[in-house]
Amino acid sequence: MYLCDVHTHTKISPDSKAALRDMAAAAAAAGLQELCVTDHSDLLGWHGESITSFPWEAALAQYREAKETAPEGLDLRLGIELGSSTFDPPVAQAILDGAGDQLDFVLGSFHNWIGAMDNIELYSTDFTGNLDLCVRAMLLCLEHTRRMIRDYPTFYDSLAHIAYPLRYAARDGVPLTIQAFEDPVRDIFKTVAETDHALEVNTRHGLDLDSWNLILRWFKEAGGELVTVGSDAHTPGDVGRGIPEALDIIQAAGFHRIVTFHRRKPVFHNL
Ligand SMILES: [Zn+2]
Ligand SMILES: [Zn+2]
Repeated sequence: MYLCDVHTHTKISPDSKAALRDMAAAAAAAGLQELCVTDHSDLLGWHGESITSFPWEAALAQYREAKETAPEGLDLRLGIELGSSTFDPPVAQAILDGAGDQLDFVLGSFHNWIGAMDNIELYSTDFTGNLDLCVRAMLLCLEHTRRMIRDYPTFYDSLAHIAYPLRYAARDGVPLTIQAFEDPVRDIFKTVAETDHALEVNTRHGLDLDSWNLILRWFKEAGGELVTVGSDAHTPGDVGRGIPEALDIIQAAGFHRIVTFHRRKPVFHNL
């Protein structure tokens, strides 16, 4: 079994204090063979402010340093979690170009309202008692996801945490699950599969495993073949959490291999 974690954050992200060197040491201690750092590059900030750059200089310096000291046997890769790319496609393109030829992997994600609610992070929205607002948030994210995969396929290699808004529905006690969005999600998966892109199984550092059986079934039925796994760790202690369980779930869903990305090309690993 190829143990890898290709969704992790460090101090380059606004919501992490971790050094990549420490994340790499934790990855090796957890028995991982590959770690990809995917710091946040969100085009919309916490309060909906627009962000037009990513600190590549600091990110590349940290990556180079961590590579020099990486434990033997650990393949360390450089990725990015590009958020809300459809908000400003030219900026998204410029950010990707800023990595030169160093970039291995791009996770495409949506964390914010776009064109509504002052573009704030979904995390900051109180969904308590408001099912309609949850549905609206999910449909908006799916709509932007659809736009990204159709019009800007180079803005992602793997589709990150497809059900992100539902985290906050659950947090605020609103009973809403992915089943309510079966048609649009299956539709998205069809395009992801047809364009040879990947779907991410995001374990949310081991907290979210159960929801993936159904999602993976839909992806498989849509013809999907490429699956990545990530813990979304923001601290060394969370690196690799839930990954072995996720690999079992992926295998049980009928997939025989997973992928990681090197220089933005898929590399297959048998389960
Ligand atoms: Zn994310
Ligand atoms: Zn993340």
